[in-house]
Amino acid sequence: DQPVHGRIDGRVVIVGMGSIGKGTLPLIQRHFDYDESRMVVIDPDPKVGDYLAPKGIAFENLALTPDNHREVLGRLFGEEGGFCVNLSVDVASLDLIRCCRDLGALYIDTVVEPWAGFYFEDRDNALRTNYALRQAVRDEKAANPGGTTAVSCCGANPGMVSWFVKEALLTLAADTGRDANAPGDRAGWAALMRDLGVKGVHIAERDTQARRKPRPRGVFVNTWSVEGFIAEGFQPAELGWGTHETWFPENGHRHEDGCRASIWLDRPGAITRVHTWCPTPGPQFGFLVTHNEAISISDYFTVGQGDDPEYRPTCHYAYHPSDDAVLSLHEMFGSGRQQTEHEILDVDEIVEGIDELGVLLYGHEKNALWFGSRLSNEETKSLAPDQNATGLQVSSAVIAGMVWALENPEAGIVEADEMDHARCLEIQRPYLGPVEAHYTDWTPLQDRWELFPEDIDESDPWLFRNVLAS
Ligand code: NAD
Repeated sequence: DQPVHGRIDGRVVIVGMGSIGKGTLPLIQRHFDYDESRMVVIDPDPKVGDYLAPKGIAFENLALTPDNHREVLGRLFGEEGGFCVNLSVDVASLDLIRCCRDLGALYIDTVVEPWAGFYFEDRDNALRTNYALRQAVRDEKAANPGGTTAVSCCGANPGMVSWFVKEALLTLAADTGRDANAPGDRAGWAALMRDLGVKGVHIAERDTQARRKPRPRGVFVNTWSVEGFIAEGFQPAELGWGTHETWFPENGHRHEDGCRASIWLDRPGAITRVHTWCPTPGPQFGFLVTHNEAISISDYFTVGQGDDPEYRPTCHYAYHPSDDAVLSLHEMFGSGRQQTEHEILDVDEIVEGIDELGVLLYGHEKNALWFGSRLSNEETKSLAPDQNATGLQVSSAVIAGMVWALENPEAGIVEADEMDHARCLEIQRPYLGPVEAHYTDWTPLQDRWELFPEDIDESDPWLFRNVLAS
């Protein structure tokens, strides 16, 4: 009785079969009509072959590289096209987007990923930002508008949270007695956010999933890609920079080219803490880990342009990962070396917890509204196989993005902000557990330790100066 949402003609090529690939595969099988003998998975890890063999799915045991990706994808897609689902690390999204569009194959990914090595190369930190990675994709879109659809950054975050922002705006509009009809274009959405008085958005997440076994010393434990988390955690902290901000961080930098919606800090995101709020814990610390959506949401909801627009929201990630991941980060940064052993918490070993992932819209007349998914690992087991709650929030967004791409095959390069959020959430919502709106009267000036002086400005609780933890 599961709905089939569309037909994929030609090849289905999945690049990368890690935690997200393993969760997405059964949902592709469930929700699309396609020829499974035309499906192939590309991954350099030979163990993926053992995983796929009983399922009868073809496997190319290789790493895509700058030198081979055109040959490999050209050979697989040939003239017939199909869908490329990129769920790998270390494969440059932009090169795959270009290649797939040249081949007439639809494309989706969950992050703007660079080729291997990029994150740890010794060069100007401005070049290691997500701003630089995203802007290259935006420049490609501007230079080559339209054409075969390539969906950039369509996981949970980046991805689904952009749809939550719109749903939260409509909720806030209704609850403050305003017109709650969805605007028809970007300018309308930006004007709505401005008119509602929203100063900014935290992508506010608390992951409480835990297993019984204590984290062994020397092992990085996470609920999704350890490699992916370490890579983004070592990038500079970044945030969309709103027009209500009256102070500029001492270690902050602007960009000279592109949309200029964000700034970056000369400090790794995974040791930059912010004060934030989620329904389960209430006030908490989150890490200001850089993410594509911090930039795309600030950019999308800008009224005006450049460094000095009429209106722009501040936007950033405020991530409290699972407790084991917090300890893993603490150990890694303290010891000055990455753990060589990595573990991703498996759905069956997790004994408790939820991934509470939402958007906190703040600074408006009702103070702050958290809107998001509070999916438990337990419920995940009854919804879809082979993944924990974190994985399902991502894989179900990939499915929603694929449906949208099949329904809009000539939309060019798009981000989640530019897609029909209602249609995408309609597809995804059965997999998100409780999706809830919570108002709170908490502000970053509350629940602080008052025995030491802090660099805060009490004239506006929602200034980033107050959000950034000292
Ligand atoms: P993972 O580390 O579990 O798996 C990554 C897979 O990519 C591995 O199987 C690895 O062997 C494969 N791979 C490595 N190099 C490759 C190459 N050159 N060619 C082809 N395959 C290669 O990671 P994951 O948890 O499955 O995450 C996958 C991607 O999804 C990551 O980029 C991650 O950042 C992203 N992600 C996005 C979101 C989101 O919400 N937007 C959430 C989680 C993960």
